[in-house]
Formats: sequence, structure tokens, C-alpha cells
Amino acid sequence: MTGGLLAIVSHPDDETFGCGGTLAKHASAGKEVRVLCLTCNPRNRRDEFFNAVQSLDVDADILERDDIQVSPELIRELADYIDDFRPGTIITHLPFDYHREHKSCYGVVKEAIEWAAHTTMYEDAWLVERLLLMEVNTLIPSPSILVDVTNSYDAKEKAINQYSTQLAKFPWGYYPRVNRKKAELRGVQCDVELAEAFIEESLPRDGPFYLEKATALLV
Ligand SMILES: [Zn+2]
Repeated sequence: MTGGLLAIVSHPDDETFGCGGTLAKHASAGKEVRVLCLTCNPRNRRDEFFNAVQSLDVDADILERDDIQVSPELIRELADYIDDFRPGTIITHLPFDYHREHKSCYGVVKEAIEWAAHTTMYEDAWLVERLLLMEVNTLIPSPSILVDVTNSYDAKEKAINQYSTQLAKFPWGYYPRVNRKKAELRGVQCDVELAEAFIEESLPRDGPFYLEKATALLV
């Protein structure tokens, strides 16, 4: 597989809660890993975000938008970003997430992946191979991929603890506890201690707009 791993998320903390163990695991395996966060509102979460991604040992960018709309301008900005970074796999939000901006993020990412692959848009068009959808607070009813994060969960826990403004909202320890319980549940499902769950969504591969227009052989 070519290309790195890119997580595109709505808010600081989504990357940690949704796929922090997976990101840290790939980074420690020497893979190219990056997080792109679309908003930073309120601004004090910016420092928490960069401390958290440092705990995961991954690179990160933040766009600092006030909100997320499925607009041609934002789709183009993300398509440019994808064409430049050239990820093999992108992780983003679920389309059935409870949060409006998580759903919008999914919509923007899905379109940006499509446009980044069009040879009519980019001379060096880039076809993302895999799109994985993560669970933050809305759980996936039937995951298609479970990643063993037993050995990277310590890094995820360090990253969770950077979000003091978020942790303070729920004094009964919601975020540390729900993330640990999620990881234990997903771990039980795949016979490891701790895991993170994803849905893999199939992407168009062949067609007039793509560099490779047809699949030659199926096997
Ligand atoms: Zn969020």
C-alpha cells in the first residue's frame, strides 16, 4: 500500500477519542501519519490539540474554521490537501454521527477524496485507497475493521489527558472511562486486550475521471 495515514476530524479531541490508538500505533511503526483538524473553537483548545498529537507522536495541521459547511470552497481546500499529502488511507467521521459538524466533515471528506482523484482537476491526481470511519461518541453497530491498540493505548490515554477543558465538562470521568470501555469492548470482539473500531467504506476506483480507468483482472 502506498501513501500515509491521514485523519481528517472536526474538532480538537476527535482524533484522540476516535482513532488515537491507531494513529499512535502506525506512527511508532514508522508510517507517515498526520491529523488535519478543521475547526478550533474555542481557541484555547488549540494548545490542547497540539499537546495531544505530540502525545500520539503524529504530525498535525489545523484550519481554525469557526464551523464546517459542505461548501465548494472547503471541498476544494481538502482536495488540495489530499493531493498534496497523498494518503493511502483516510480516517474521518461517521455519516450517522449525532454531531452535525461530524456529519458535515464526512460529507466534505467524501467529496474531496473524489475530486482529488480526477485527472480533469489535477495533473497529479491522487486516488485514496481506503476510507475508514471512526467512532467518537456515536458507536458503530457493526464494525468492519478492528485495530489492535493494546500497545498504543498508553499514548492515547496521555493524549486524552491533554484535553483538560473537555475532561472538566464531565466530572464523573466520562471521556477516559468511555474510551477505555469502548477499547475493551472492541478488544473482546477481536480477541485482544484493547482495540479501535472502524467501518470501511468502498470508494470508486475506475472510470473516465481516474488515472486507471478500468480494472484489468479481478484475481
Ligand atoms: Zn467533534
